[in-house]
Amino acid sequence: MLNHVQLRSTTFNHVQPSLIRLFLSKKSIRPSNHILSSPIEYLKGVGPQRAELLKKELNIFTFGDLLEHFPYRHIDKTRVDSISSITPQTEFIQVAAVLLHFEIVGVKAGRRLVAQVKDKTGFLELTWFQGISWIQKMLETGQSYLIYGRASFYQNKVQIIHPEMELLTADRQDGKNFLEPVYPTTEKLKARSLGGRQIAKLTQVLLAMLQEKDLPENLPASLRKQFKLTDRWNAFRQIHFPQTNAEYDAAVNRLKFEELFIAQLRMAMLRSERHRFSQGLVFDKVGDLFNTFFKEHMPFELTNAQKRVIKEIRADTGRGRQMNRLLQGDVGSGKTIVAVLIMLLAVDNGFQACIMAPTEILVRQHYATISALLEKMNISVALLTGSTKAAQRKKILKELAEGQIQILVGTHAVIEETVQFKNLGMVVIDEQHRFGVAQRARLWQKATIPPHILVMTATPIPRTLAMTAYGDLDYSVLDELPPGRQPVTTVHRYESQRSRVMDFLKAEIEKGRQVYIIFPLIEESDKLDYENLMQGYEQVKTYFPEPRYWISMVHGRQPGDQKDLNMKRFVEHDTQIMVSTTVIEVGVNVPNASVMVIESSEKFGLSQLHQLRGRVGRGAEKSYCILMSGPKLGNDARERIRIMVSTNNGFDIAEKDLELRGPGEIEGTRQSGALNFKLASIVQDRQLLEAARSCAASILEGDPEFNSAENLPIKNFLLSQKGKTAWGRIS
Ligand code: ADP
Ligand code: MG
Repeated sequence: MLNHVQLRSTTFNHVQPSLIRLFLSKKSIRPSNHILSSPIEYLKGVGPQRAELLKKELNIFTFGDLLEHFPYRHIDKTRVDSISSITPQTEFIQVAAVLLHFEIVGVKAGRRLVAQVKDKTGFLELTWFQGISWIQKMLETGQSYLIYGRASFYQNKVQIIHPEMELLTADRQDGKNFLEPVYPTTEKLKARSLGGRQIAKLTQVLLAMLQEKDLPENLPASLRKQFKLTDRWNAFRQIHFPQTNAEYDAAVNRLKFEELFIAQLRMAMLRSERHRFSQGLVFDKVGDLFNTFFKEHMPFELTNAQKRVIKEIRADTGRGRQMNRLLQGDVGSGKTIVAVLIMLLAVDNGFQACIMAPTEILVRQHYATISALLEKMNISVALLTGSTKAAQRKKILKELAEGQIQILVGTHAVIEETVQFKNLGMVVIDEQHRFGVAQRARLWQKATIPPHILVMTATPIPRTLAMTAYGDLDYSVLDELPPGRQPVTTVHRYESQRSRVMDFLKAEIEKGRQVYIIFPLIEESDKLDYENLMQGYEQVKTYFPEPRYWISMVHGRQPGDQKDLNMKRFVEHDTQIMVSTTVIEVGVNVPNASVMVIESSEKFGLSQLHQLRGRVGRGAEKSYCILMSGPKLGNDARERIRIMVSTNNGFDIAEKDLELRGPGEIEGTRQSGALNFKLASIVQDRQLLEAARSCAASILEGDPEFNSAENLPIKNFLLSQKGKTAWGRIS
């Protein structure tokens, strides 16, 4: 049977129409006459011109969008302070005071309106630099005002610059009894009278128009009870206009939970959808190749984690649905052998397999490793990269289409673009960072039955992040390193200590070890990188002169074969030192290299540093990682270096990285719509996220179509939201 498989973009494959399909489709079935769908220009006080601005500046198109434009904080106007209580530590104050006197002083830039007010306890000065004539008209000596603003001290006197003021009427004697919301806005909006205050007014108008039925509850009652969650209607009102801080906190908590819960629900639905409906190739036997290799050619015992993961994959590929699995493992945890074994499994079942990696160096190394492992087996393995010569390439493509080649090792780009397999059964994507939900969903088309996919991450992603961004994938972890590894000792050294560092390298080289020296890649300038590297190389050469020492250098400007040659010389121990840019970063494996020097380490991100460090500590020797830096370090750089020195655990580092940079900056998730939360943060709201996730899972398990009375609110909500979310836009 000729089953030509072309690898290409696709939407979600082989999903039968179903309720979930309906949820995820683009067209909204929310009745367009629903009040929250009303165009924002129809709100009293908006009109066409302001509406244009609201759309452009804040993405507020409908009443619903305005409702979800949440305040970022509230000003506490619930209390009135006495002037004497103000100290240099005081931030915002509200006082009730009588206006004694006001006048304009100064000229030109110093021109300002100054007023004195007093209450029973003391005096306070108010100053305006702008809007002077307008303010002046408003002021009346002898009147009482409620005055609000940021207190500051100027020549030992308390003052407020540009305070907010309003006449103190009888019913306001105790101050305003609410927390005033402050909304995100922009300069353009402010200029058109749509500052934070005006937005608050619009929101007030909107809330007054809404009724409870417009914001129906979407969480099951039991869940709300369990987590003490405010009902939806009140949560929306109180997040904008709370009476107390506690009320506000409860509203935020409720809406965050809702946000996380719904997101988790969608992910879990996608996953179970795939499980139920996707059609997959069946690998029903463990055949000769796998067994022979396992019995006779395995260079080591598998770790328990490796065994477990292979079992998980076996189970996946045996049951007739497509596998879509993420394999996380720290650097050096032994992902390659897992890939090799499952590719053998595919071949045993009569299919072809391929492994893709992002860089040519890595692909070549994989090819070398895999060919060596399979040397004594009767299997045809081919290598395909951007620099494969035309004739060779033609031959490979032909043999792939005809099925002679069983395992293909290649770069992503090459495989995705041009390759046709006879019957591709397994795709391993190694060291993959950039892999959003959308890209994954788009991966394979055309095949009647798509191949199984295993994505192996380059460095661990924090669990919370993986749960959120990759929640629709199955998930395996290699949480154990092969035995006999000694932790890498990491130290931080300043430029001033360079000659001592070089002496240390010499001593290690004397012992027969090899050394990496890595220079940063400043992506904006290829030229600068190159010069930087050359300078570094010259410097290294002065410390390590030929013929006593030999140095390899690898960088992005070299042609492929030269890179290979230099790599090869290092791998074969012809050279003791490898000077390189970060091209060496991923996957490269030279067990005898035991020292990694990272130049200008302050310029690297955490996961990159960890990834680089993973190049050493692969053999039996004690290994070292030396982070060089200039004398001046920013706080973040200092923190990154501190973390690197203090731990070798990639999962811990990933967590810290997430805390330092926030989820948006972690590689591979930037494009993921799944992380665009309005309120929740997967860093700060970790516990809430875990809770939401386990609730979503258990509800889906018990009642996948939300048919029980208890779960009906969820169903109704999902149906009403169709096409409104980031997900709708992605798929
Ligand atoms: P990574 O997960 O970073 O891709 P590799 O697959 O490159 O890690 O493995 C790192 C090193 O550990 C390789 O030299 C590999 O041969 C070795 N290795 C992998 N699994 C084991 C094991 N179970 N026992 C001993 N060594 C192993
Ligand atoms: Mg690897």
